[in-house]
Amino acid sequence: MHLKLSDEDRAFQEEVRSFLADHLSEDLRSKSAIQASIRTDPETAGEWAKILGKKGWLAYTWPTSMGGPGWDIVKRYIFESECALAGAPAVNSMGYRMIGPIIGKFGTPMQKDFYLPRIMQHDDSWCQGYSEPGAGSDLASLQTRAVADGDEYVINGTKIWTTGAHYANRCFCLVRTSTDGKKQEGISFVLIDMDTPGVTVQPILMISGDHELNQVFFDDVRIPKANLIGEENDGWTVAKYLLEFERGAIAYTPTLKAGLDSIAEIADIESSGTGGKLMDNPTFASKLRDLEIRVMAAEYTEKRAMSALSQGQNPGAQSSMFKLMGSELGQEISELKMEAIGHYALPFLPESRIPGNNVKFPGPEHTRTVTAKYLNGRASTIYAGSSEVQRTILSKQILGL
Ligand SMILES: Cc1cc2nc3c(=O)[nH]c(=O)nc-3n(C[C@H](O)[C@H](O)[C@H](O)COP(=O)(O)OP(=O)(O)OC[C@H]3O[C@@H](n4cnc5c(N)ncnc54)[C@H](O)[C@@H]3O)c2cc1C
Repeated sequence: MHLKLSDEDRAFQEEVRSFLADHLSEDLRSKSAIQASIRTDPETAGEWAKILGKKGWLAYTWPTSMGGPGWDIVKRYIFESECALAGAPAVNSMGYRMIGPIIGKFGTPMQKDFYLPRIMQHDDSWCQGYSEPGAGSDLASLQTRAVADGDEYVINGTKIWTTGAHYANRCFCLVRTSTDGKKQEGISFVLIDMDTPGVTVQPILMISGDHELNQVFFDDVRIPKANLIGEENDGWTVAKYLLEFERGAIAYTPTLKAGLDSIAEIADIESSGTGGKLMDNPTFASKLRDLEIRVMAAEYTEKRAMSALSQGQNPGAQSSMFKLMGSELGQEISELKMEAIGHYALPFLPESRIPGNNVKFPGPEHTRTVTAKYLNGRASTIYAGSSEVQRTILSKQILGL
């Protein structure tokens, strides 16, 4: 196992750092810092995505054959870590991380020529139309129908929890094209332009007050058959391939470590309530140290996996372990941070986190996003495969239960 960076990787790390120093403006960084979501607001994130696209680093996970930089896993890890540590905006990754690789694998030459360059330059904003009111973990139960009519499909149904549908111009969607056979067998994967007549988007506000989620309705929506990806009724194969990419970033622990550092800074400022600083309170300090030890263990596990991957080994069920550890540790960190700011956790002012707002948050700057991040972060153990689903995968694949 090699955990140390090679000379070449260290040089690459310097290149990324200097790019961030030159291009990540204070304006972008501060707009990004006041937000609670895992995804920065579309204007700020879009501006940063365009900068990355120009450099050829937006679709940083892509091989050179698709027009990407062809980085190995270590370079990708370095890039993600440096962006997280620098406080770069979190861009909508559904284009380059999800639909891009799908089109690269299953798309026709025309689909590749049209969509891939647009994704690399962030010319489109994508959303994912999978979940429905009766189909989440059990996705294959989806009911949204697509009926063939000449060169078109006519789509009727609804999708829910669709992140970013209110600003996306394109959606990749799973629809039912047949009710014969097993439920997985009658599903197709299609692309829908969000401005097609019959598409309606209704907001769902999160407990943090943020608008990220939506319910999308399709009423007699007509799309060309040319928007089918892969074969009709073979969308499940396409969807399963996509799940490999949905887990997201490989570098979870830099963000977790940054969260712990910010708690330590707060605990050196805020008072304990019984004299002295919060950090002098042994109960609080021991909670913080406990989390630090567990994040350190996660970091070594992450680096061990990266080392194995860089030598061509398969991650197997490890991706479930990272999703589980990353999301659950993240929630515990946000909970401790909320404890650290005491009564400043109480004000509910989502407006104070909108870039350019003139709403003053009634507390020091380090308290502005804490409660909202705690509330927003509750969702992390549900999306991209809930904790229960990840534990089932681990128990089957690792424990053989
Ligand atoms: C913030 C957020 C963003 C999202 N964004 C999108 C998006 O952009 N596009 C999209 O298509 N979807 C999106 N989703 C939906 C997400 O994929 C689903 O919420 C998720 O798959 C769970 O489905 P569900 O909500 O229907 O819950 P259910 O599947 O009904 O689960 C309810 C509970 O039962 C448990 N459970 C379910 N099945 C099992 C099982 N077999 N064994 C043990 N326990 C089980 C779950 O763990 C959970 O605790 C998003 C969700 C959230 C919270």
